[in-house]
Amino acid sequence: MRIKTKITLGIGLLFTLIVVLVSISTYYLDALSNATKKILEANYNSLEYTQNMVAALERTEDREQSLAVFEKNLIKQQNNITEIGEAELTQKLGERFAQLKANQKDTAIYHKLRIDNYAIMKLNMDAIARKSAVATQTAKTATMWVAISGVLCFLISFTLLLNFPARISTPIQELTESIRQIADKNYRKRLHFQGKDEFNDLADSFNTMAEKLDRYEQSNLAKIIFEKKRIETIINNMKYPIIGFDEKRYILFANTEATKILNIESAKLIGNYAPDIALHNDLLRRLLTIENTQAPLKIYSDGKESYFTKEVVQIVADLQPIGEVILLNNITEYKELDLAKTNFIATISHELKTPISSIKLSLKLLEDARVGTVNPEQQKLIETMKDESQRLLKITGELLDLAQVETGNIQLQKQSTMPETIISYACNALAFQAQQKNIHLEVICEEELPNVVCDIEKTAWVLVNFFSNAVRYSPEDAKINIRCYRIAGVVSPEVQFTVQDYGRGIDPKYQPKIFEKFYQVPNSDTTNTGTGLGLAISKEFIEAQGGSIGLVSEVGMGSTFMFTLPAVA
Ligand code: ADP
Repeated sequence: MRIKTKITLGIGLLFTLIVVLVSISTYYLDALSNATKKILEANYNSLEYTQNMVAALERTEDREQSLAVFEKNLIKQQNNITEIGEAELTQKLGERFAQLKANQKDTAIYHKLRIDNYAIMKLNMDAIARKSAVATQTAKTATMWVAISGVLCFLISFTLLLNFPARISTPIQELTESIRQIADKNYRKRLHFQGKDEFNDLADSFNTMAEKLDRYEQSNLAKIIFEKKRIETIINNMKYPIIGFDEKRYILFANTEATKILNIESAKLIGNYAPDIALHNDLLRRLLTIENTQAPLKIYSDGKESYFTKEVVQIVADLQPIGEVILLNNITEYKELDLAKTNFIATISHELKTPISSIKLSLKLLEDARVGTVNPEQQKLIETMKDESQRLLKITGELLDLAQVETGNIQLQKQSTMPETIISYACNALAFQAQQKNIHLEVICEEELPNVVCDIEKTAWVLVNFFSNAVRYSPEDAKINIRCYRIAGVVSPEVQFTVQDYGRGIDPKYQPKIFEKFYQVPNSDTTNTGTGLGLAISKEFIEAQGGSIGLVSEVGMGSTFMFTLPAVA
């Protein structure tokens, strides 16, 4: 049965019950009221008339008027005959009154008239008693019927009250719960109601919706799984190791190359907390701790040494970091080429050194008068050749140094040295050059400086390089400051050396490249005969000794080159 019909029937039934209850009550109330009315009309009036007649008989004064009152009430009584036998008694009363009127002196008639009136009174009083009993009985019946229909109404309403709300609310509750399940992505949820009402239609629609959502989810899931597989395959087929982490550093994926170099099975990696695995895996530990740097990582895997650069890509969604991906670029090939080039340079430089030295010697001999006199033009040419061969020797020397550092063949004679020793070495080497430009040199060394652990020759070479650049890029009569002081250092105390000039300075856009090999600031001094190797070698020398190198410069204000070395504890 439809809910609408059920509600209509329920309300209709209640309505009918109310109508029945009201009808029964009205019927019996009417019956009771009629009974009372009848008593009043039929019997009470007769009692009143007879009482008036008896009262009229009692009055001795003004007989005429008493008789008139008697007659008036007699007429009323004659018109109010309601009971069986009342007509005869009233007629008898009328006849006797006629006798009285004919003979007013007959006192016996008075007495008889009184008796007749009492007889009528009694008849009516009996009738009142009888009718009252009937009314009482009617009232009882009314009470009984009203009570029965009331109880019936109560029982039916109570049954409706108990059943009807539950019949409506139970399916609604079930529907609410099912919708909640759908919201929680449980698309398998279905609704089944008994009967054929609107809730059943609702359940059908709900089930259809859930089924469609389920199918959509399944197809979407299949699509997502397919896409996931495709991305996994792409990542797995990439030549470079890739490892993905979530924002809590749990490993999300690692391609075959990554598992190969980490030497760990994929199942042991994926889904695990990376720092936990790093405890037993050196390479992963290195990957998690080292900075995003261009410095190549040497990794031994598959029976050979490979070089990688690490790149970390932060994954951000809706401005929230949701993880990161570590990419390792395999640069082994370039590294091998670089090494071949370095070896080649080293060989060439080494091979060139001897002929250049012999050219220098020959030039020296040429200048000797014993070999023969040279005219001024020839002398000029010899001077130029000497300068050029000196320059060539410097270049080959620098190239050799660089090759040594790059191949790791650098021989460091580390020893504890006073910083002042290195500074005075550099100052002496450049004193003449500085003098030529009338450059004022100011050396400021902090008192009681600790010694530094370094290779004196190479460190002095760096300071000389800084100093010679400062002289070269300073105008005449300028000032150069060399400072040396103690700093806290990241791990342990260090000593910092700085060379400050007040020359043209270096544009910030060129500064990051300044320590690269063969780099020279564009449009720099055309008379500069440098190679662009000095600062690159300086960097390698300092870093090989566990120090760091840096620069602070502003165009037009000058530059400060600096390096730090670990202090002796
Ligand atoms: P070079 O042999 O060319 O001097 P360096 O490696 O020593 O090679 O220097 C690289 C470049 O850095 C130089 O060519 C120059 O342009 C710039 N440079 C170095 N020092 C200074 C300085 N004190 N002031 C301005 N420019 C400098």
